[in-house]
Amino acid sequence: AGRLAGDVVVVTGAARGLGAAIARAAAEAGAHVLLGDLDGPRADAVAATLVAAGHSARGTTLDVTSQQSVEASLQTVLEWQGRVTGLVNNAGRLIEADVVSLTEEQWDAVLDVNLKGAWRTTRAYVPAMIETGGGSIVNISSLEGLFARPAHVAYAVSKAGLLNLTRATAVDFGRSGIRCNAICPGSIETEMLTQHLEATGDADAAASDLIGRNRTGRLGRPEEVGATALFLLSGEAGFMNGSHVVVDGARGA
Ligand code: NAD
Repeated sequence: AGRLAGDVVVVTGAARGLGAAIARAAAEAGAHVLLGDLDGPRADAVAATLVAAGHSARGTTLDVTSQQSVEASLQTVLEWQGRVTGLVNNAGRLIEADVVSLTEEQWDAVLDVNLKGAWRTTRAYVPAMIETGGGSIVNISSLEGLFARPAHVAYAVSKAGLLNLTRATAVDFGRSGIRCNAICPGSIETEMLTQHLEATGDADAAASDLIGRNRTGRLGRPEEVGATALFLLSGEAGFMNGSHVVVDGARGA
């Protein structure tokens, strides 16, 4: 049996990138996986590839900025499997602007998905997890939750907040069987990273710059974050709670 055999895991923002890789890792480890995303059809398509490979998965439309949508995803997973044991708060967005030029709307938009979105799912899912014996929550923060990069203020603030949401969830519900940990990825090859590189006007130079700061000499792969999430979801991480793991290939200045 796989490391997550019998577990039921919900991944937000799972239609592509890190979310899709995390969903794949969980499904391959034997979990039933619900893939939620703003782009429901694309989440369905990723789930269909997992099912075709013999795993248990389904997709659903999910907007983490809506408490109603979050509650609906919980009903979907409970109707499907009767319980939920894992939640990966991965949905995220990046708007690039510095502290002065960022608009209030941009600040709110980024915080609403990256930070408040994770709180909405956590507050909805924790009681359901406790009812069936507990569960593991993994929040996808960022290296930028630990230090600022230029013109990423809203993103950096949201990811730093997510680290303390992680700690708060562990402290508030650790005694009820909830573990909550975070991952701080460095630069990983996804569409979000590609869009960031293209926005610089010289994607190749920007990619070389990122790789040059990284002692592993390459960008990270989504499945490398997937493997870390799998570990945190599994019982092997049973004594990790309120913690974070950096997956950045030794990034430096
Ligand atoms: P991505 O943009 O490729 O994918 C993000 C997914 O989230 C998309 O499928 C999108 O539709 C979905 N999403 C956006 N808003 C949503 C909402 N309101 N409700 C539900 N789903 C929503 O990004 P990625 O690179 O795969 O990033 C995934 C997570 O990892 C993000 O939280 C990101 O901040 C974080 N992260 C990424 C990197 C990196 O280098 N790629 C590094 C550190 C952290």
